[in-house]
Amino acid sequence: AKELGRDRWCLYSSSLGAAVSERLDLERDLRAALAANQFELYYQPKISARNGQTVGVEALIRWDRPGYGMMAPDRFIPLAEQLGLIVQIGDWVIDRACEQVANWAREGLAISIAVNLSPAQLVERTLVDRVAGFLERYRIGADMIHMEVTESMMLNDPEEAIVHLQRLRNLGITLSIDDFGTGYSSMAYLKRLPVNRIKLDRSFIQQIATDPREADLCAGIIALAHKLGLSVVAEGVETIEQKQILAAMDCDLFQGYLFSKPLPGNEATRYLRAQAQI
Ligand code: C2E
Ligand code: CA
Ligand code: CA
Ligand code: CA
Repeated sequence: AKELGRDRWCLYSSSLGAAVSERLDLERDLRAALAANQFELYYQPKISARNGQTVGVEALIRWDRPGYGMMAPDRFIPLAEQLGLIVQIGDWVIDRACEQVANWAREGLAISIAVNLSPAQLVERTLVDRVAGFLERYRIGADMIHMEVTESMMLNDPEEAIVHLQRLRNLGITLSIDDFGTGYSSMAYLKRLPVNRIKLDRSFIQQIATDPREADLCAGIIALAHKLGLSVVAEGVETIEQKQILAAMDCDLFQGYLFSKPLPGNEATRYLRAQAQI
């Protein structure tokens, strides 16, 4: 029994060692990624329920990590936040998004871009000045840049979060609460938050066609949001049935694989041109 125990320990310890060295590799590669120009923005269209037109896109970061292919953000954004790299990466995202807005505007495509903001970016004191700097450099209006924040930013210090959001609003940035309905106390804070939009989390949309209670909940959230003067985006719309149900609930915008998956810049441009028929 003792021997077996020792064998087990060896097995365990070597796989633990592999996990640790893998994590160190990841950390080293992530620290180098920005300078090595390995990040890329993909863009997912947001479609108006009213006229079926794409009115904006969400920028979603990808990492072309050497030897690993395109990595999805869930696999490195949390680490970037832990390592304190997220403010720099976030600045790169905002910079690229502003440049893309300007490039599209130059060929007559008036498409806004929404970027995702981590809590650490939001509370950074100089964020608003840096954003203003990017808007100026690319000569674009603040109304062309949207920012999506999750409810988790409210957890530590809601009052502080509200102050930071208000500064971005004052600059003219459109603000959305991302993954709405998944956090706690969302309803309680909603009317106090200086935001323009909510994004209904995909977990609601997934069940909307099969679970009447989930559908009722969605309809209720949309009605409440409208009463508060907020527009509603449904994320993760995958079926025509989901779209029809959401349209009947007066949802304002759709986003999801039914319309398009996130596209690399050149493909997004092609998609937007085709729609505008240029
Ligand atoms: P999110 O902001 O909730 O973004 C929506 C996610 O759902 C994206 O995953 C998108 O590709 C995916 N999605 C869109 N439509 C559908 C659909 O119809 N079905 C399904 N199953 N999925 C759909 P992605 O691109 O992997 O991004 C994951 C998360 O990473 C994002 O969730 C966001 O929280 C974070 N993220 C992405 N880019 C950035 C960034 O530049 N900065 C920060 N801080 N976070 C980012
Ligand atoms: Ca988002
Ligand atoms: Ca979301
Ligand atoms: Ca999410």
